[in-house]
Amino acid sequence: MRRDEISKVILPESEIPKQWYNVIADMPNKPAPYHNPQTLKLIEPDDMKAIFPDEIIRQEMTAERYIDIPDEVREMYRQFRPSPLYRARGLEKQLGTTARIYYKYEGTNATGSHKLNTAIPQAYYNKIAGIKRLSTETGAGQWGSAISLASSQFGLECSVYMVNVSYQQKPYRRSFMKTFGASVVASPSNLTNCGRSMLERDPECSGSLGIAISEAVEDAATHEDTNYALGSVLNHVCLHQTIIGIEAKKQMEILDEYPDVVFACCGGGSNFSGITFPFLQDKFKGQKLRAVAVEPTACPTLTKGIFAYDYGDTVKVAPITKMYTLGHDYIPAGIHAGGLRYHGDSAIVSQLYNDKLIEAKAYGQKAVFEAAITFARTEGIVPAPESAHAIRAAIDEAVLAREAGEEKVILFCLSGHGYFDFAAYENYFSGKLDDVEYSPDSNTSLNNLPPIE
Ligand SMILES: *Cc1c(COP(=O)(O)O)cnc(C)c1O
Repeated sequence: MRRDEISKVILPESEIPKQWYNVIADMPNKPAPYHNPQTLKLIEPDDMKAIFPDEIIRQEMTAERYIDIPDEVREMYRQFRPSPLYRARGLEKQLGTTARIYYKYEGTNATGSHKLNTAIPQAYYNKIAGIKRLSTETGAGQWGSAISLASSQFGLECSVYMVNVSYQQKPYRRSFMKTFGASVVASPSNLTNCGRSMLERDPECSGSLGIAISEAVEDAATHEDTNYALGSVLNHVCLHQTIIGIEAKKQMEILDEYPDVVFACCGGGSNFSGITFPFLQDKFKGQKLRAVAVEPTACPTLTKGIFAYDYGDTVKVAPITKMYTLGHDYIPAGIHAGGLRYHGDSAIVSQLYNDKLIEAKAYGQKAVFEAAITFARTEGIVPAPESAHAIRAAIDEAVLAREAGEEKVILFCLSGHGYFDFAAYENYFSGKLDDVEYSPDSNTSLNNLPPIE
């Protein structure tokens, strides 16, 4: 088989991995344990029982290297996995690069992003624990879509608290979730104490991810038959996403390739974890490899944040973790990659970055959309604005390789498609997108960290 004649590698369903890979087992320094946001003490498994099923709590805390993927979950994965690995031949040609560029495309499922990879096991573990309903928040709508679909597949009800501005701006995401039977309300809502008190203060409140999280958590904590589900950041979410990298490694192997560098965009860190951790496993054993997380300059958590204990959310209901953070009450500018606006990062990704085992870089949104358009026109897929951060970095790397005349192998994660994001593309076309720089001097949020050393 001649590598240069191949545009994509599609594995048979029998190659869907049977286990997820838990990178914690191989990390030289483990991520710091979580603290309870009320007591500030170390979190006990029991602290999480009101909102998560036992198996999720176990996966959150274990250092076991491999976790079996249940048959029922693999059965659902068959609908859209293994996902394709593409050679970006059109893009390479356009750039005139000596590098070979590959991308793993996670947008082939109905919800259009990698988030379904964790939504399915989360719904499954809740179902077998006897839970009847899941509550969750959604900002841009991708996570809400994924958990709605997964819930419907396992016969669970699903309540989505959608940040009010997105609820108004993204009506089709709303319709998508309803199609799968979820009930979607604008947050703040009158369904929770938290929502009602926000509405009392400001009936027109545009909402925030922090408010939506506290509504969803309150809903789960106050209903016996209801649990909460989270779409990024936590260890079990990063674990489930490793199915991306395990497949990608096999697909590269078929082409007799190994990446010199792997790029993924980084919001909470789950698709970055997913594609890079299985390759990092080799790096821990001496393999040469660069893994680079790409973030927006408007929310540059790894590149400009500090490594400290911080609350996981604005209203202090999520666990306190040691991570790179801009401060839990930092409000990033309203950039168009909604999925990358989280103030912190996964504890695992943060620890790896602190140990210099991974790298990070940041881009402004104009450069990102420019890369998105180049990619769409050369590869025929419209990328999600989030994913376009990884594309930007891959393009820059390929240009460097061309200038140096190097035969570099580049891999990136195309975490999702952008077919629900044309309002953002339209803003780019009409010149309405501004680059927003983070200014550390005006960020007072770092003064409000919890008192944990
Ligand atoms: C949510 C989302 C992201 C960011 O989340 P991570 O947990 O950092 O992966 C990136 N890309 C897409 C398409 C998303 O939907």
